[in-house]
Amino acid sequence: MTGFARFVRFAGFAGFAVLGVTLAAQEQFIDVNRGIKEVGTHGPVHTIHVAGGVHALIGGGANVVISVGEEGVFVVDTGAAAQWDNIIAAIRELSNKPIRWIVNTTLDADHIGNNEKMSNAGRTVNGNPTAIISHEKLPIRMIKLPVPVPVTARPVNTFFGDQRDLHFNDNPVFIYRSLSHTDGDVFVHFRQADVIAAGDTFQTTTYPNIDVANGGTTQGYIDGLERILDLAVPKHLEEGGTYIVPGHGRISDEADVLEYHDMIFIVRDRIRDAIKRGMTLDQVKAARFTRDYDARYAAPSGPGSTANFVESVYRDLNRDKK
Ligand SMILES: [Zn+2]
Repeated sequence: MTGFARFVRFAGFAGFAVLGVTLAAQEQFIDVNRGIKEVGTHGPVHTIHVAGGVHALIGGGANVVISVGEEGVFVVDTGAAAQWDNIIAAIRELSNKPIRWIVNTTLDADHIGNNEKMSNAGRTVNGNPTAIISHEKLPIRMIKLPVPVPVTARPVNTFFGDQRDLHFNDNPVFIYRSLSHTDGDVFVHFRQADVIAAGDTFQTTTYPNIDVANGGTTQGYIDGLERILDLAVPKHLEEGGTYIVPGHGRISDEADVLEYHDMIFIVRDRIRDAIKRGMTLDQVKAARFTRDYDARYAAPSGPGSTANFVESVYRDLNRDKK
């Protein structure tokens, strides 16, 4: 599929009129971004073909990414529990083959809400419920949550170290650890399709949510995004090439990831400098170090909001000092 064909596909999904000229591609892309950002978590689940056998299911909580092919279905994140019927229906529309593997990129309910159902809906080649893969830190964090994740929904197929790789549907699949949102987060690269399921290491909708209590770090976000930038190859005029599906938001390319990386890097440096000058958290918040990015990334409240982002960076960097 050409880059422009992809823009058209996105445009159709977002309900924008399509001009049939290549020059309009950049404008189309901008319009489309706006459209996808509005997709909520309780409406219908939209399926978008990303590349090769890889598809994104958007609107079912955190984005779900699946690879379909001869061997079966590989699922990255299982979405929000309330969206199970829509998510499994969307998967079954693409493939009736068994769900062979599940990866959890992080521990939040909108990413892992259907772990148990997805596992039971699938089968390993030995006939057991499908194994859930994660970094070894993740199930440990899940047990310690205020509401612990039940054992039947926790990943049992864990790995330690920086990465794991396996081969599925003619795709080398690389799972990379990323100490970003938590210290058990991962992102997944389908190398042949050249699609990265980034989990919460990258999102287009809000500021990062650095879960300091669960080992998340600002530096982990920067390192994870730099690894994605190393893996991603743009196709033409910095558009297209490797596609990156964020944990939340619209499908992106390398340039979008670079923008997010630079934002975190710059805000981190401003806050680090303020800490060196002895500024308190209240003073840092009042200084509005994020004001040039707030219009683009600030969630109205809670995770991803300006207050939450600034405070988590501040606490994270102060922890480093001790
Ligand atoms: Zn998330």
